[in-house]
Amino acid sequence: MPFVAEILIPLALDAPYSYVVPGTLDLSVGDVVQVPLGPREIVGVVWGLAETAGGSNLRPVTGRLPYAPLSEPMRSLVDWIARYTLAPKGSALAMVLRLPDEAAAAETARVAVRLTDKQPTRPTAARAKVLAAAADRALRGKSALAKEAGVSLSVVDGLIDDGVLEAVAVEPEPVAPPPDPDFPRTPLSPAQAEAVTELVEPFPWLHPEAEAADNRPILLEGVTGSGKTEVYFEAVAACIRTGRQALILMPEIALTAQFLDRFAQRFGVRPAAWHSGVGGKRRERLRAAVAAGEALVVVGARSALFLPFARLGLIVVDEEHEAAYKQEDGVHYHARDMAVVRGRLEGCPVVLASATPSIETRVNAARGRYRHVLLPERFGGRRLPDIAAIDMRKDQPERGRFLSPPLVNAVKHTLERGEQALLFLNRRGYAPLTLCRACGHRYQCKNCSTWLVEHRFRRALVCHQCGYTERRPDACTECGTFDNLTACGPGVERIAEEAAGLFPDRRIVVLSSDFPGGADRLRQELEAVAAGECDLVIGTQLVAKGHNFPSLTLVGVLDADIGLTSGDPRAAERTFQLLQQVTGRAGRGDKPGRALVQTYQPEHPVIASLLSGDAERFYQEEIQAREAAGLPPFGRLAALIVSAAEREVAEAHGQALARAADPPEGVMVLGPAEAPLALVRGRYRFRLLVKTERNVDMQAYLRAWIARGPKVRGNVKVAIDVDPQSF
Ligand code: ADP
Ligand code: ZN
Repeated sequence: MPFVAEILIPLALDAPYSYVVPGTLDLSVGDVVQVPLGPREIVGVVWGLAETAGGSNLRPVTGRLPYAPLSEPMRSLVDWIARYTLAPKGSALAMVLRLPDEAAAAETARVAVRLTDKQPTRPTAARAKVLAAAADRALRGKSALAKEAGVSLSVVDGLIDDGVLEAVAVEPEPVAPPPDPDFPRTPLSPAQAEAVTELVEPFPWLHPEAEAADNRPILLEGVTGSGKTEVYFEAVAACIRTGRQALILMPEIALTAQFLDRFAQRFGVRPAAWHSGVGGKRRERLRAAVAAGEALVVVGARSALFLPFARLGLIVVDEEHEAAYKQEDGVHYHARDMAVVRGRLEGCPVVLASATPSIETRVNAARGRYRHVLLPERFGGRRLPDIAAIDMRKDQPERGRFLSPPLVNAVKHTLERGEQALLFLNRRGYAPLTLCRACGHRYQCKNCSTWLVEHRFRRALVCHQCGYTERRPDACTECGTFDNLTACGPGVERIAEEAAGLFPDRRIVVLSSDFPGGADRLRQELEAVAAGECDLVIGTQLVAKGHNFPSLTLVGVLDADIGLTSGDPRAAERTFQLLQQVTGRAGRGDKPGRALVQTYQPEHPVIASLLSGDAERFYQEEIQAREAAGLPPFGRLAALIVSAAEREVAEAHGQALARAADPPEGVMVLGPAEAPLALVRGRYRFRLLVKTERNVDMQAYLRAWIARGPKVRGNVKVAIDVDPQSF
């Protein structure tokens, strides 16, 4: 009887397709194959195999491709993601199946050139430049030489053809030099050493007899500056000593040179880094090294979770509470949660590290589903910063200004002592709203329901949702009046302007994600700040987290209430985490730090917990509130976002979905209502919210509902977001 193979194809398809296996082909589950699909040939993965009598009407598998098969845990991960997020299984496969392009993978040697004794037959000015640049007879890459000489690559190639330059194969730089777990390092503090023992002792790979092992995920919680990084580095060291691989996940922006250097101090070499800036051949070679088990430690942003590790022994999720771990387009997944799933499937421990854990993780630890390892004090006897409120109802700044007198004073004294200060405002640009005083016109995005944000340095009005940009006009585009446009409210650029007026001789830098020059320049700038090369930093949430600025002793929070007014039930948690993180930037070096928080509501529970330093009180209150409201993790949530180019079409489809909802016991469906962002990139958005009790199989309900719901027509799209981060 012939074999029939179920082949999963990395396209937005819910299930594998069946193909017949030719008698000459010996396939196994997980093999990467080529199959016909319609008129073309496409890559797929064998998801199942069965010997059956039927199958005569099926098309045959074309052949097996020379790639490493997808491992059982990786196939299970794909199945799990598709089931949990309701994304098409093929889309989940596409995230893990980025096959290396063969040319890149085969590239084992790089070509470098050097001068021979032969003289060029046709001397030209361009050739002379190359000869001058290569005169030292050192080996250089071809393009490096062309660049140095200021000529095109073809000039260099011509000289190679003439035998004036010789091409030599050199070994490529290793993408992942082996970290040394026993590299000499500074000793751990007693508290750190204790935490390491508690953390590592139960790891399953240290216990051949399974009963002694404990493979629950671990929450590693420690206040900012407590030395968590050094603690999980020891877990990484223990892991690679056994020959297993370790993955450290970080929010993209925390992946700084500073962190890579810290790793090098502990392990002798920088780790292999995987993030959006790593491209082309390097990416492919790193992927191949991971699959071969050669790259022992990878530090990466969320997509590193889908790398094909050969022997994964440990996953660390640093700053586990970060919202940046949630991917909100394509397959909507939360990298922290998927890390826990992958750890379970691979049988390896997962460490979630944070100074301000998410409510979900805290509850998991409290219920014993996770282990809980604590580092309650700052490293080296350093104190947490003293935090005080500035009550803006009493200490108002002058009109049109945003820094209160006590804050200005504190900054002044800090700078006079030669220390650094940070002013934190989570708003990019100059002003969040621009209006015309003559006619009242407010400048809004053409594609989105958002106000345009003035960026004064660029003389532009910019939509922070879709990037739409227009020149800031001199005269109102509505009424034509000149010089009547008013900036309403502050952004970091405006604070910088105010600060420059107050402290004209100081070096002031504005740090936000739209820093000119892109990610690399921004990384350099962050290092410059860490090295003390500036006096006053004005920054958004970009500077709030993960960074270590040793001379920073004062943090001023300009508007602590910003996040508290939104209707989002996660607002309290997010604000608490952000304020705790940003105030924790102060006093990480030798000198003690303090933080001043401008607020109109110092008695608000979030602000009060922050001021008293009583994080436990915040967690207890917030957990109780979530439980009372049946919100995650005490209930489940999903959002359905219906979007279309016409408002009526989106709304009508949302209403038709709602009519088909038919929620059973324990399920509540709300909406459709206009989504919090009602218009994005020219598409109108309506949202349905699904709230279920914890024991309800929400995914099964959603699947059945969508199946019996209205057919998606025209340009309507329905996106499903399980565990939405804002709701
Ligand atoms: P966290 O991640 O908990 O905020 P870090 O791991 O960044 O804390 O550590 C805070 C500071 O203490 C860093 O400057 C780090 O270099 C320093 N530090 C931590 N542990 C040690 C140690 N064992 N020896 C020397 N310095 C340490
Ligand atoms: Zn827009």
